[in-house]
Amino acid sequence: MRYSAYSIIKQALSGNRLWQPAWREPEPKPHYDVIIVGGGGHGLSTAYYLAKEFGITNVAVLEKGYIGSGNVGRNTTIIRSNYLLEGNNPFYELSLQLWEGLEQDFNYNAMVSQRGVMNLFHSDGQRDAYARRGNGMRMHGVDAELLDREQVRRMMPYLNFDHARFPILGGLYQPRGGTVRHDAVAWGYARGANQRGVDVIQHCEVTGIRRENGRVVGVETNRGFIGCGKLALAAAGNTTTVGRMADLDLPIETHVLQAFVSEGLKPAIDNVITYGAGHFYISQSDKGGLVFGAELDFYSSYAQRGNLQTVEHTLEEGVTMIPGLSRAKVLRAWGGVMDMSMDGSPIIDRTPIDNLYLNCGWCYGGFKATPASGFCFAHLLAKDEPHHVARFLRLDRFERGYMIDESGKGPQPNLH
Ligand SMILES: Cc1cc2nc3c(=O)[nH]c(=O)nc-3n(C[C@H](O)[C@H](O)[C@H](O)COP(=O)(O)OP(=O)(O)OC[C@H]3O[C@@H](n4cnc5c(N)ncnc54)[C@H](O)[C@@H]3O)c2cc1C
Repeated sequence: MRYSAYSIIKQALSGNRLWQPAWREPEPKPHYDVIIVGGGGHGLSTAYYLAKEFGITNVAVLEKGYIGSGNVGRNTTIIRSNYLLEGNNPFYELSLQLWEGLEQDFNYNAMVSQRGVMNLFHSDGQRDAYARRGNGMRMHGVDAELLDREQVRRMMPYLNFDHARFPILGGLYQPRGGTVRHDAVAWGYARGANQRGVDVIQHCEVTGIRRENGRVVGVETNRGFIGCGKLALAAAGNTTTVGRMADLDLPIETHVLQAFVSEGLKPAIDNVITYGAGHFYISQSDKGGLVFGAELDFYSSYAQRGNLQTVEHTLEEGVTMIPGLSRAKVLRAWGGVMDMSMDGSPIIDRTPIDNLYLNCGWCYGGFKATPASGFCFAHLLAKDEPHHVARFLRLDRFERGYMIDESGKGPQPNLH
């Protein structure tokens, strides 16, 4: 079924009785050409592009919970491509370009909203760093504008410009950045993959990886053994536990990140804003809630919830940046588990084990990567060679010393 204005009118006239489920609920088959572990954004987009771009349709996505129960449905919905380094910039820019055409491509309203992303700076040194980043972006053909204090004030008069310790001196602005409705992305990719023959299997937990003569031949699950040609791991915060099933020791730590939403307010914040003196970021959803978050909880955990100390810290940062926030009520908070790589950049690569492929290391920024991650991982699975924009995102870079140190803080996960 194709979604369109015509289909909405037709359904309305028939009392909305003819809508069909967006995807099937298939039983697992005994064998697939490709099995993808993890029905998050990355697993589902990989399946979608495998079928659509490479014609590989004998594919299953195995999800231990329900579609959207992981980070794809828990993030703060921000998309951008304001990266500095060669290893990241073309990759994230491909992702932004795919976001720009995604709704037409998979025929689903994902509410892609290019409302602009502003990174505030608070010192001369930080302005220099942002100027360098902006120049790097422009040299890669990516949009970036360095704004002074008065230009930012005209756009966002409610910010605290004269804070004694962290005055706002200006911002690096990417007009094409913005937000996307996160769960609609999961649903849109699941529906698109399903339409092309992919089996999206919910409540199917992978509990073991079977190998014969060193090659992966399938997975043990709570619904029995399922054989496969290639096995693709896209388990995000659970990467280390799934990797351990194949004795893979990965350069990943799992940490909690929380997010918050306020009561619905009249439109007030038009863009996405990030606070350069901390890690606070905020936008306003179309329903009116202020959606925001800040730092990790700073301890390893697989629990999808965090602690009160981080709640307090996040709200302090928010009120420092926007004093009026102190009058809004927080409605809900939640947490997700982040696959933190040691240099802050992702991995899309083969593993040393035959037939086993890896997609992980998304830290707190993998939502924006969803389309390019799926596209490049599908390319790798189909052709057995990396897509050129993902050629630096290799697993062995940690061994070889070729870190992609995007945040300028070295290969130390506690600093990025
Ligand atoms: C609070 C928060 C805010 C964030 N904000 C942003 C943001 O604004 N912008 C941005 O770009 N990124 C953001 N992120 C990061 C982003 O959400 C993640 O990097 C990205 O979603 C991870 O990829 P995914 O969607 O595939 O993960 P997930 O949705 O977590 O998918 C992984 C799936 O694997 C499944 N799984 C795990 N183990 C197994 C198993 N053994 N068997 C079967 N299935 C299994 C899980 O159930 C899960 O559904 C945020 C994350 C959080 C938590």
